[in-house]
Amino acid sequence: MGDSVLIPENLAINNGISETIAAVAVVVPIYNEVESLPHLIEAIATALTADKLNYEIICVDDGSTDGSAQLLKQLAQTRSNIRAVLLRRNYGQTAAMAAGFNYARGRVIVTLDGDLQNDPADIPRLLAKLDEGYDLVSGWRKDRKDAALTRLLPSKMANWLIGRVTGVNLHDYGCSLKAYRSELVADMNLYGELHRFLPALAFIEGARIAELPVRHHARKYGRSKYGLGRTFRVLMDLLTIWFMKRFLTRPMHVFGLLGLSSMLLGILLGGYLTFIKLALGVSIGHRPLLILAVVLLLTGIQLFSFGLLAELLMRTYHESQGRPIYRVREILEPIVNNS
Ligand code: UDP
Ligand code: MG
Repeated sequence: MGDSVLIPENLAINNGISETIAAVAVVVPIYNEVESLPHLIEAIATALTADKLNYEIICVDDGSTDGSAQLLKQLAQTRSNIRAVLLRRNYGQTAAMAAGFNYARGRVIVTLDGDLQNDPADIPRLLAKLDEGYDLVSGWRKDRKDAALTRLLPSKMANWLIGRVTGVNLHDYGCSLKAYRSELVADMNLYGELHRFLPALAFIEGARIAELPVRHHARKYGRSKYGLGRTFRVLMDLLTIWFMKRFLTRPMHVFGLLGLSSMLLGILLGGYLTFIKLALGVSIGHRPLLILAVVLLLTGIQLFSFGLLAELLMRTYHESQGRPIYRVREILEPIVNNS
C-alpha cells in the first residue's frame, strides 16, 4: 500500500480521509542536499504511509554539484513512488518548484524544503486542514530555528510588509511547507522568486487560505543557499505582486490617470507662461516654471502612452494563454432529465 502511486479518480478509499486528499504529490526542490536526502525520503514515507495516503514524491534536482542528482537517480530507480526531475543547471528554488508543479500528478500538492528544516510529520495535519475546505494551507514556523539577526528580523519585517501590501495576513510567508489543491497551482506562473508569494498569488485568484503552526528544525547538513541579499529581491517581487493585484487587468487606470493629470498641469502652466509672454510681454526664458511645464507635459504623454501599451500587453497576456480575468470556484447546473 505504502508504495502504490496515485489512485484513479473514481477509487474512493475508506480510511476516513476524503477523496480529495487521497492523491498527494510532495514536491521538494533539491540543491546540494545529498546528506539530507535519504533521511528526507524516509521521513516523508513514514509520515504518509502511517496515514495510508497515496502519494508520490517529486524531487527536483536544481543542478546540484554534490552528487544529489546521482543519489536521486538511484532512489527513483529503486522506489516506486519517487520521481526525480533533474534540471540541467541551477535555476533557483522558484524554478525548481515550478518544475515540480508541472510534473506533479496528485490532486493535492505539498511542498517542503529538502534540508529537513520542515518536518514531513506535519504533512497529514496540513492535509486535514485542507480538507476542511481550503485551497491552500500554509505552514507557520512558530518556533523558527534560524539566525536571529540575518534571517528572523528581515523575515519579520518582510512578512509584515507583504501582509500590508497583499492583504493576505499570514505570519510566515517564507515557510516552504504548504499544501495546495492542484488546480490552484496549475494556472499560476512563477517568475523571479515568486514562490514565496504563492499565497498572495492564490489570494488574487480567489483562493481560501489557512495557516497552521508547524515544526521547524535547525539545518543539520549542508548550508543555507541564501543570505541577506534575498531581502532586496523579495522587496522587488513584492512591488510586482502589488501591481498585479491592483492593476493587472486595468493598467490604464493607473497610468492613464497619472499621465492625464501630469499633462493637464503641464498645459495649464504652459498656457499661463504663454499668456504672460504674449499678452503682458514678460520674458519667460529664465523661469524654472517653464522647465516644470515642459517636464510635466512630456512625462504626462509618456505615462499615458505607456498605459495604452500596458493595456495591449495585458490583453495579449490574457488572451494568448486563454486566461480568463476571473476564476470560477464551482458551477451548479440543473439536473437534466433525459427520459
Ligand atoms: N534550493 C534550490 N535551488 C536553489 C536554492 C535552494 O532548489 O538555488 C532549495 C534547497 O535545496 C532547499 C530549499 O530550496 O531545499 C530552501 O533552501 P535553503 O534551505 O537554503 O533556504 P533557507 O531555509 O535557508 O531559507
Ligand atoms: Mg532551509
